[in-house]
Amino acid sequence: MTDSSAEPHAAASEATSRPSTGFSTRAVHAGQDVDEVYGAVVPPLHFSTTYAPDGIGNLRNGYDYGRAGNPTRTALQVQLASAEGGTHAFSYGSGLAAEDAVIRACLRPGQRIVMGNDAYGGSYRLIHRVHGEWGIANTPLDLSDHEAVAAALDADEATMLWVETPSNPLMSVTDIRALADIAHARDALLVVDNTFATPYLQRPLGLGADIVVHSTTKYIGGHSDVVGGAVVLDDADLAEKIAFQQFAVGAVSGPLDAYLTTRGLKTLAVRMDRHCQNAQAVAEHLQDHPAVERVLYPGLPSHPDHELATRQMSGYGGMVSMQLAGGEPAARKVAEATRWFILAESLGGIESLMNYPHEMTHASVRGTELAVPENLLRLSVGIEDAADLIDDLDQALGGL
Ligand SMILES: *Cc1c(COP(=O)(O)O)cnc(C)c1O
Repeated sequence: MTDSSAEPHAAASEATSRPSTGFSTRAVHAGQDVDEVYGAVVPPLHFSTTYAPDGIGNLRNGYDYGRAGNPTRTALQVQLASAEGGTHAFSYGSGLAAEDAVIRACLRPGQRIVMGNDAYGGSYRLIHRVHGEWGIANTPLDLSDHEAVAAALDADEATMLWVETPSNPLMSVTDIRALADIAHARDALLVVDNTFATPYLQRPLGLGADIVVHSTTKYIGGHSDVVGGAVVLDDADLAEKIAFQQFAVGAVSGPLDAYLTTRGLKTLAVRMDRHCQNAQAVAEHLQDHPAVERVLYPGLPSHPDHELATRQMSGYGGMVSMQLAGGEPAARKVAEATRWFILAESLGGIESLMNYPHEMTHASVRGTELAVPENLLRLSVGIEDAADLIDDLDQALGGL
């Protein structure tokens, strides 16, 4: 097989990446050309691991081997690049595999990642425990303190600023444009984990971010049936580094995973509209409940980052966290008492999920600077009827 350093199928197609075309149109059509042989409206799913050249060295459409390229993966990558307003996208077997590819492609031992102190626990575990062992240091801090961010980037060889917004599970919102300016003044790359907001609600590349990462397992896949990740960018040199990493390391998404993710992304806009509506209704209702000490949702005017979220996002998303007045025992009891909210890890699917981060998603950061409050529950508000979801929460809170 060829040792091509740049995977040739990652770029967004011209027609569907034009900014004048609307998001939903691009999500449905980008990379999804009608099949030339049979006219199939849905591009076929290609399982073949190898591709017969038209004679030695004459690849047909650039494909030779499944790790290097696969037409189903290309269809997803083109669609992802278009959705984020990027020029290149790369798809992986998980969100963490995508993050790992970014770190390895862009950093070297002795360098440092400055990151939010409320980042997703799995991202922190990857950065701290895996890359820490290979000589990449990290500084977690409060990203709303811009002076502290600038000082941390100035301190030594900090060459990457890692932002997750809204953050998981505290729902704080970070000013992407302001941090892009701070990072770029210091030659640091700004990476934004856009998993919670999705490209429908927030497009970090347009706000100055260099790299967007996703756990497509969440809203983009959207149906809790496929694990995956993505890297999207709009810089050809950086894209070549990521392309080489994807090809040489090989943590790619398989064809069926890519297919399911593409199918999910096509309906992202309509799902997100409902997620946002339902989450707003749930958050407003919980806010007035006597058993609830505090609701964390950027769509509430009481949220400290409400104004910033309104400026930076076109909707507030489907994730709501709440802290219970009754502390840890109350949180545990409510987590196990809901009917429609299923007690489970993960988020972003059409069904509502309930998570107790302290012992579930964020167990790996207990006792560290990134630990989450013990009375906090995180809700992934699904697309069911809002009234049923509210009734469910009332009945669970009523049992305290
Ligand atoms: C789930 C998640 C990840 C990790 O993605 P996986 O697909 O589970 O590997 C990264 N960032 C955020 C914000 C997440 O929610």
